[in-house]
Amino acid sequence: MSERFDFSILGGGISGLLTAYELSQAGFSVCVIDISAVGRESSWAGGGILLPLYPWRQAESISDLVIASLALYPDLITDLVTQSHINPEFIVSGLLLSTLPDRPAALDWCRRYQIRYQLPTPDAPFHPALQCQLDQPLWLPDIAQARNPRLLKALKATLQQRDVVFFEHCQVHTIHHQNQHITHLQTQDKTIATGHLVVTAGAWTSTLFDQLLPDITPPPAIKPIKGQMLLFDSPPGLLPFMVLANDRYLIPRQDGKILVGSTVEDTGFDKQTSDTARQQLYQFATTLLPALEDYPVGHHWAGLRPGTDAGVPCISLHPDIDNLSINAGHFRNGLGMGPASAKLLADLILERSPLLNPEPYQLKSL
Ligand SMILES: Cc1cc2nc3c(=O)[nH]c(=O)nc-3n(C[C@H](O)[C@H](O)[C@H](O)COP(=O)(O)OP(=O)(O)OC[C@H]3O[C@@H](n4cnc5c(N)ncnc54)[C@H](O)[C@@H]3O)c2cc1C
Repeated sequence: MSERFDFSILGGGISGLLTAYELSQAGFSVCVIDISAVGRESSWAGGGILLPLYPWRQAESISDLVIASLALYPDLITDLVTQSHINPEFIVSGLLLSTLPDRPAALDWCRRYQIRYQLPTPDAPFHPALQCQLDQPLWLPDIAQARNPRLLKALKATLQQRDVVFFEHCQVHTIHHQNQHITHLQTQDKTIATGHLVVTAGAWTSTLFDQLLPDITPPPAIKPIKGQMLLFDSPPGLLPFMVLANDRYLIPRQDGKILVGSTVEDTGFDKQTSDTARQQLYQFATTLLPALEDYPVGHHWAGLRPGTDAGVPCISLHPDIDNLSINAGHFRNGLGMGPASAKLLADLILERSPLLNPEPYQLKSL
């Protein structure tokens, strides 16, 4: 069997689906190929906070993508809800940061990116249910969240309506190329001729290059970083906003369930959960919000973030192959940076004026 698409997208997480969204919107034929089920890896496992943890401590290029994405989210969500009738639960629930030794830097960042903030009084409780030590706290009322599994389902359904073709549980065995040009992909039962290949394989991106494009340099440098989360089966009304305390957080969903995140573990492609992480996350959550002790932990899982050195993703045309590009390596902020990353890559591929300066995200020739 042989098929042809203008664009083949390898990896169906948030990065691949949003890239497909951009390219199909521009009128091209697109397929998404995933070795597993679409939207079941890191993008499913994440918390869905649409802001990096302490963005002022990270590269400016991360903030630029996040802020550009924040501006794109409302229209994207409206379109997804209209097309798919699935609600991704994009909620502006606000984020409390309880302890900020570097609050002046945070305030500079908020002013620079025009993020509204308030300074809570540290000696009065911010919310009656929270047992939270406030030390130079900061309240960001406009920070939003999305519910990852629903966002992914809404995206997939919208893409299917646009005739994007999904090949799930489909392994590409060979990527054929000649004269610095990809010609086709070979699976066990299909030949997929492609005008352009986009690699969006998250934590597996470098491995995919090693296995399927071993003679193409440079490969992007991305490695898996495990994160574990808990979900409490709590009722609505316990906590109306997100809280970040040091490196851990609580995220209340619309139905009242509360997510607790997360660990950061450099343990390769191992997705096992551990009792130690469960205990640490449970302890953090019940200390901060003692009412959670009355509710069971409904779920404990792990996902593999696509880690890069400074958390800056690779959003780039390949410097040496004329129809190959990459949108991967979003580490802890794939949802937060997703819409702008996909738009920027589509701008580069389609030679449109880029949404942002692409330089910080470029893959450089060796
Ligand atoms: C615990 C945790 C909490 C997080 N919290 C947040 C948060 O609050 N906010 C935020 O913005 N981000 C968060 N993140 C990070 C975010 O989830 C990731 O940055 C994002 O999901 C990466 O998306 P992706 O599409 O690049 O990768 P993935 O979602 O991992 O998708 C990659 C896809 O590629 C497929 N694939 C792999 N190999 C192949 C192959 N050879 N051929 C074809 N397909 C292949 C996989 O099956 C998968 O479907 C969190 C992550 C974790 C784990």
